[in-house]
Amino acid sequence: MPDQPSQPQPAQPVESIRVRPALEALPAYVAGRPPADDGRRRFKISSNESPFPPLPEVRDAAIAAMTGTNRYPDAAALQLREALGAEHGVDPSQVVLSTGAVAVSGDLVRALVGDGDEVVFAWRSFEAYPILVGSHGGTSVPVPLTDALEHDLPAMAAAITERTRLVLLCTPNNPTGVSLTTEAIEEFLGSVPEDVVVAIDEAYREFHDPRTVLDTAALFRRHGNVVVLRTFSKMQGLAGLRIGYAIAHPRLARALSQVTVPFGASLPAQAAALATLEPAVRERLDEQAAWIRSERGRVQSALAAQGWELPASQGNFVYFPLGEDSAAFAAFAEERGVVLRSYGTDGVRASIAEAEASDLLISAAAAWRERADQR
Ligand SMILES: *Cc1c(COP(=O)(O)O)cnc(C)c1O
Repeated sequence: MPDQPSQPQPAQPVESIRVRPALEALPAYVAGRPPADDGRRRFKISSNESPFPPLPEVRDAAIAAMTGTNRYPDAAALQLREALGAEHGVDPSQVVLSTGAVAVSGDLVRALVGDGDEVVFAWRSFEAYPILVGSHGGTSVPVPLTDALEHDLPAMAAAITERTRLVLLCTPNNPTGVSLTTEAIEEFLGSVPEDVVVAIDEAYREFHDPRTVLDTAALFRRHGNVVVLRTFSKMQGLAGLRIGYAIAHPRLARALSQVTVPFGASLPAQAAALATLEPAVRERLDEQAAWIRSERGRVQSALAAQGWELPASQGNFVYFPLGEDSAAFAAFAEERGVVLRSYGTDGVRASIAEAEASDLLISAAAAWRERADQR
């Protein structure tokens, strides 16, 4: 029923519950903001979303699955797990699904981290990490990125203590875009105790230059403490359906299944995800990813020609390390038609999406530099 603005609001009861003190200290997850509704056309390139709507086969699969949604989804999600198991060369029981890679990361924390146990991750990295850790009673150990905005793996190894249960590596790193090499992770793993789980969050893997992309399968095969996180939200364009997964060794896979929300990945989400693995669909998604990569190259070259020195991003985004100027640059760009994601006094991230949005970003960046040069 529509609200009746003329009616007085009923009095609210006094709420005296007590939430866990840890929640008071948590930063809020800042979702990419929708563009201001002032009639001007703006592109929201603040959430690393795909500019491509779902392919017809994917949409149709999700819609067809709706006819069965009076039933719970197959708890085993066997078809999808078999397909993903085949893709990754693991048993289907080692594929653990949930409502997105963020949910799987939360499951990792719940499965591994007791009160006061520590989780090591690079910072700045994915802003969900400290929230997931803190909300589940763990202690975040953020390790600053290097000056080149890369994971400082030696410092991360040095930050591991007896309380460390989990290390999160994000590659390509959100929001800086810099990626890790197989050799660097291999060396890092050599200095991590084997009972500490190392999660490799590859949400942006498909946007990486395929010639130098991480040999995740080899790392997984060689190390019993490695777990891989993947999502359908970015390249496959299913962010709104919420589905992601872990590739885990057997005991951890079982532990994740023990703590995860039952029937987390919905029937339409499973059906859509399965449809993205069909070879003909996959081929077109690969073409979309290739387009994003080349568009990223176009944006990076244009910005470099303006004199910007940005980290070499392998994600579907670029990062402006603007420090104190971050918020001002984001506001400046928004005035010129693109909504970006600003991170405090660290930097600003812009997603690679529609070419028109990239054009607006490039011209906003040029105008910003001209203005800065005049000061
Ligand atoms: C976007 C993103 C994800 C994806 O999360 P979903 O819950 O699957 O939508 C995971 N990790 C990182 C680093 C991301 O940026």
